[in-house]
Amino acid sequence: MKTAIITGITGQDGAYLAKLLLEKGYQVIGLSRDLLNCNVKNLEYLQIAEKVHLIELNLLDLSRVSRVIEKFEPDEIYNLAAQSSVGSSFDNPIDTLEYNTTSVANFLESIRKINSRIKFYQASSSEMFGYIKEENLPIKESLIFHPVSPYGVSKASAHWLSVNYREAYGMFTACGILFNHESALRGENYVIKKVINNAVRIKNGLPAHLQLGNLAIKRDWGYAPKYVEAMWLMLQDDVPGDYIICSGEAVSLESFIHKVFQQLNLDVEKYVSINPGLLRPLDLPVIYGDNTKAKKELGWEYNLNTDALIHTLIEDEMQWLEWNLSQSFASQSKAGI
Ligand code: NDP
Repeated sequence: MKTAIITGITGQDGAYLAKLLLEKGYQVIGLSRDLLNCNVKNLEYLQIAEKVHLIELNLLDLSRVSRVIEKFEPDEIYNLAAQSSVGSSFDNPIDTLEYNTTSVANFLESIRKINSRIKFYQASSSEMFGYIKEENLPIKESLIFHPVSPYGVSKASAHWLSVNYREAYGMFTACGILFNHESALRGENYVIKKVINNAVRIKNGLPAHLQLGNLAIKRDWGYAPKYVEAMWLMLQDDVPGDYIICSGEAVSLESFIHKVFQQLNLDVEKYVSINPGLLRPLDLPVIYGDNTKAKKELGWEYNLNTDALIHTLIEDEMQWLEWNLSQSFASQSKAGI
């Protein structure tokens, strides 16, 4: 039986990846900053909370990171924990830089000293590319980074650290450069989750409130459960590398929202408003990638176009909403309310 450590297991990708690895017969060790207050809702929703071994760990503490690796002797480590919001990184640049880079250095150093055969996955991001000239689209792995947010800078730094340990010490470090990917488990402050969640709530006659910032941005949005398959594939390869994981299609937020409301037969004008307070200091106008390398070298499959993605996200959100309502009904009954 293989053992995998997943940092950030309570997040969207961590939960889906844990489910995938359990299905493949792995023992899964999940790390979280604060077990008492961490949100295990995603794991409960996927019915895997009891099947993973959760450990509390401050990833900024090198000696504790090393101890966990010594104790569990993992075959693979998937490093997904991060301050992952671009918007929040402008409010908390120092915390973002410190957490997103020092945690990676701690893992790489620990692996180098304890067992350099452990395979390491780093969650890199399309935000590392930043400003893109039209002629460089779609983005390929070879494009030079020019991040435009503290988050992008932190991810670029963590990415190069991982590459550096691969080149300097021959370690197996693979970086998945993922473009935006969504699901019902996505954090509620992310725009696609906000749109789908509010639209589904409106459809179900529940209170909803949809205020948005810049609708002109064009992004490459994909489906999270398919993207975690690529993470696993990267660590099964004989040779480590960096791979862009994306849908390959760019769509404006405005068009995405219209398609969501159209699929639900709702009037978009009635429910969506613009809040200038939600505009960012810097926003990339358009970004989309080329997933040829991942498909060719890893055998990764992805065939969802925007309409199919929206259809899937709406279906998932309906199930998620139903599950949440049943959970709050169950806890109210327990409390005798
Ligand atoms: P989440 O935002 O869901 O966060 C992952 C986990 O990181 C959380 O469950 C939490 O775990 C920990 N975390 C959250 N906030 C902080 C913070 N401020 N400081 C330290 N730790 C924090 O991420 P996703 O699952 O969406 O993404 C996984 C990884 O992939 C992240 O590194 C992200 O940056 C990267 N990525 C994501 C993309 C996407 O579209 N989703 C695109 C490209 C890259 P706990 O509290 O239990 O410790």
